[in-house]
Amino acid sequence: MLIVGAGVGGISAARGLLRDGHDVTVFERASAVRASGGAVTIWPNGAKVLSQLGVDMAGAGQVLSLVHVSTATGRRVAAIDVTALNAELGAPTRMVPRRVLLERLMDDLPLGRIRCDARAVAVTNTPDGVRVDFADGTSAEGDLLIGADGRHSMVRAAFNTQDAVPTGWCSWQGLVELPDLADSDVAVIIIDKGGNLGLSPAGNGSLQWWFDLPWSPGFVRPDSPIDTIRSHFTGWSQPVDRVLAALTNDDLSMSPFPHFRHPIPREWGQGRFTLLGDAAHTMPPTLAQGTNQALLDTMVLRRALASPRTVPEALRWYGKTRRRKVAAVSWVTSRQISHGESAMKPAGLLPPGFVTRVLTSFLRAVSHSRMSAEATGKLWPIDTR
Ligand SMILES: Cc1cc2nc3c(=O)[nH]c(=O)nc-3n(C[C@H](O)[C@H](O)[C@H](O)COP(=O)(O)OP(=O)(O)OC[C@H]3O[C@@H](n4cnc5c(N)ncnc54)[C@H](O)[C@@H]3O)c2cc1C
Repeated sequence: MLIVGAGVGGISAARGLLRDGHDVTVFERASAVRASGGAVTIWPNGAKVLSQLGVDMAGAGQVLSLVHVSTATGRRVAAIDVTALNAELGAPTRMVPRRVLLERLMDDLPLGRIRCDARAVAVTNTPDGVRVDFADGTSAEGDLLIGADGRHSMVRAAFNTQDAVPTGWCSWQGLVELPDLADSDVAVIIIDKGGNLGLSPAGNGSLQWWFDLPWSPGFVRPDSPIDTIRSHFTGWSQPVDRVLAALTNDDLSMSPFPHFRHPIPREWGQGRFTLLGDAAHTMPPTLAQGTNQALLDTMVLRRALASPRTVPEALRWYGKTRRRKVAAVSWVTSRQISHGESAMKPAGLLPPGFVTRVLTSFLRAVSHSRMSAEATGKLWPIDTR
């Protein structure tokens, strides 16, 4: 089996399919497997898949107990009781640095299974398999190919011309060492006019920060991005001012990350190739679900390939099974609620616990709960440290 792309999606699929006894090779265009950016939230739906993959997450990042959402004037919008959500869904919610997540996923993975400096440029169904061609003139053949090559997927482009569309927003994002602020299990989101922000402990004294601002394809990078960020967000809260004082333009050098959303394709592949992760469903980071959805793709794909179906049938079943759930998540992430203070105001009037219950039900509904429980085997299998 061939996998194009060694991000979280490609590596998780490789890990799962190797566990199932398949012969798997991953092709990565970069010269090494590396994670960029800050941290990601792994919700219980993603945590369960990591457990199914045998990934030891004990001590990784920070387990969260609460997400507090307010306006810049300190008015409460919502308090998400993450401990209650975790208990309902049977696994912890963690903020994990991307680097740590990738290291844990790579643990035990035979290094020879990943070929770096391999930029895929074409994919073709052959009479009895699939072939991928690389920029250096070499090629590889297998019985199926998984395009886990991210937002600008070459594999997707081979059969689908609908590219990802910018949502009009971007995140300036990263990690900062501020042990006194990071020594907590509470994440904070502040939503107000013209932008919003988040601070979340990410383990070992580091704090994940993000600042969302409007963005368009004509974006011109300011000479001093930190001044732009400070001019928008100074005074929103004391911890925010501490973070803004600690950050420099160097901390912003990888940012911004524009938000994109793919139209979810009806078909996830053609013949013996398919898509997984952002290649199939890039979505804005609003619900912090992108990585979690890539992990769910892996779970469903493993199930499809373990069935007696032929490869093309199994891949069709996989795409069909995932499409509706992913479309629901993607749709919610692109609503204006995440960036509109006025749209969020009514949430403050809801009874305590309501938002937690809605989010819990939503995550359960979009996560193939029965399949996940069967694959995980037990109700509380997961290390919550
Ligand atoms: C600002 C921001 C914050 C986010 N926060 C969260 C969060 O909190 N929680 C969450 O769940 N998700 C979050 N996400 C989403 C998450 O980052 C993605 O959904 C996830 O990384 C997708 O993983 P992937 O493996 O599908 O793609 P990628 O991580 O993009 O990996 C694709 C890989 O394919 C390789 N590649 C590309 N083209 C080729 C080619 N032609 N040949 C060979 N290799 C190729 C690339 O080099 C890369 O290594 C966030 C996204 C953004 C932008």
